[in-house]
Amino acid sequence: MKFKFWGVRGSIPTPGPQTVKYGGNTTCIEIRTNRNELIILDAGTGIHALAQTLLRDMPITAHIFITHTHWDHIQGLPFFLPIFFKNNRINLYGGQDPVTDENINRALSAQLQYSYFPIHEAQLKARIDYLTVRPGETVSVGSARITPIILNHPVLNFGYRVDCDGASLFFTGDFESPINIYQPEDDNYASYRGFLLEKHQEIIEAMQDVDALIVDSSYTDEEYATRLGWGHGTYRSGIKLASEANAKRLFLTHHEPTRTDADLDLIYRDLLEQHPRFADKLFIAREGLEVCF
Ligand SMILES: [Zn+2]
Ligand SMILES: [Zn+2]
Repeated sequence: MKFKFWGVRGSIPTPGPQTVKYGGNTTCIEIRTNRNELIILDAGTGIHALAQTLLRDMPITAHIFITHTHWDHIQGLPFFLPIFFKNNRINLYGGQDPVTDENINRALSAQLQYSYFPIHEAQLKARIDYLTVRPGETVSVGSARITPIILNHPVLNFGYRVDCDGASLFFTGDFESPINIYQPEDDNYASYRGFLLEKHQEIIEAMQDVDALIVDSSYTDEEYATRLGWGHGTYRSGIKLASEANAKRLFLTHHEPTRTDADLDLIYRDLLEQHPRFADKLFIAREGLEVCF
């Protein structure tokens, strides 16, 4: 199995001279099994460049797993060019939102509305199947097994574990470790704390011993102090998850939009200084970075 980052930015694309090294496209990860089956995690703007590489190999079959439907994770879908050509097969996987009851087909059809996009959904020529994933229910794609787990975010968000060819990775999508909504003096504090600990244990088990853990690490501790509840992790929380889950490699991603290449270089240097035992297994995700197991 191998994977490649096509988009590592959070929230909004950030092209420009200050993001050349790490890249300015929003979230997209390409996974290839040893049998060359194509799995894509999220369809941020990075999926456009990935699509260019697929055109020469058409017809293709692509399995796109969406962590959640915030714009930065779906905005590239209408620009995934294989959808415009017949004989391509696109399987689009995502959750059913408990608030709106909508399935993943809504993510694409909403973007293709008359007001927002020049091409209508009926003009897509590929065969597109929409598949609903459910927590803990493993989906088989060729030789790969993909298992979704719900991770805390201000909308339904799945982290995905991918097992294939004797290797594994876990991608969080957007994830903020939940905090206790009760004050210590409240009656419900202890029971809610128990619930959170149980959920945390489930998450660690889902990530256990993966070869690559790819986590939302949008913020520094200082930034996070004023952004509680925005749904994102920190560098510190990413490292904590990797330690607890015994991940073999940790990739920090979903870079905060104002973060420049120089900022990320500095953060990386500081993290390596603070966590020397991560010296050979901590990486800042950047566009184009490809990892083979
Ligand atoms: Zn995001
Ligand atoms: Zn989000």
